[in-house]
Amino acid sequence: LVVLEGVNKHFGSLHVLRDINLTISRGEVLVVIGPSGGGKSTLCRAINRLETIDGGTILFDGKPLPEEGKALAGLRSEVGMVFQSFNLFAHKTILENVTLGPTRVRGVPKAQAEQRGMELLERVGIGAQASKYPAQLSGGQQQRVAIARALAMDPKMILFDEPTSALDPEMVQEVLDVMIGLARDGMTMMVVTHEMGFARRAANRVVFMAEGQIVEENTPDEFFTNARTDRAKDFLSKIL
Ligand code: ATP
Ligand code: MG
Repeated sequence: LVVLEGVNKHFGSLHVLRDINLTISRGEVLVVIGPSGGGKSTLCRAINRLETIDGGTILFDGKPLPEEGKALAGLRSEVGMVFQSFNLFAHKTILENVTLGPTRVRGVPKAQAEQRGMELLERVGIGAQASKYPAQLSGGQQQRVAIARALAMDPKMILFDEPTSALDPEMVQEVLDVMIGLARDGMTMMVVTHEMGFARRAANRVVFMAEGQIVEENTPDEFFTNARTDRAKDFLSKIL
């Protein structure tokens, strides 16, 4: 579904992505882990073109990423994104947060978007909160709304950038459980996370990124028990 070939990105003199080659197949769940500043968020953002690249190519569904206009909006609706900070619209209700994209971008009639929005809110376990505002929900609930909002666009893939790292510990699992459900249902996902339990249960593959490079790529079992590089072993010894 996604193919990155020789992708490079600089911020001024900082070389943040260095010759990244990576393929994400349909239905695959890829976990990206690595030290702070290694380029994980930049990689996510490059895939839905929140960030431009300055070398190499990224193909989505066999085509180069669109640069602007309608095609770019189309890409953004096909590649959902869930951030660490939930980024919900504070002055819209939970249901409105979920229906806004489909009605404005996709032209879905309001009633239909609301019906589907309610189904998605039920699916992530917050149907009862639909008419509340984001500030009235816990962090875990808000993050589940953000997931429902991404799903409302019928994406081909969802990028998650540290979706649980801003949450109180007791709320992490409820969000991971929703993500594990999505993975089981066959959603293509790229997930930046240090949640090893999630990686072991849901990931097909783990990519370890440091200093802008993919240092190691393996199955979760192999990676966590048998990391090949010193860089990865060192990192794992600090987080496990
Ligand atoms: P973290 O685990 O802390 O989220 P990360 O692996 O996601 O880190 P990135 O956010 O991709 O890392 O950042 C990679 C490098 O690029 C960092 O050194 C960061 O300071 C730098 N960087 C990121 N965004 C920008 C920007 N818009 N302008 C300048 N430098 C940036
Ligand atoms: Mg990051």
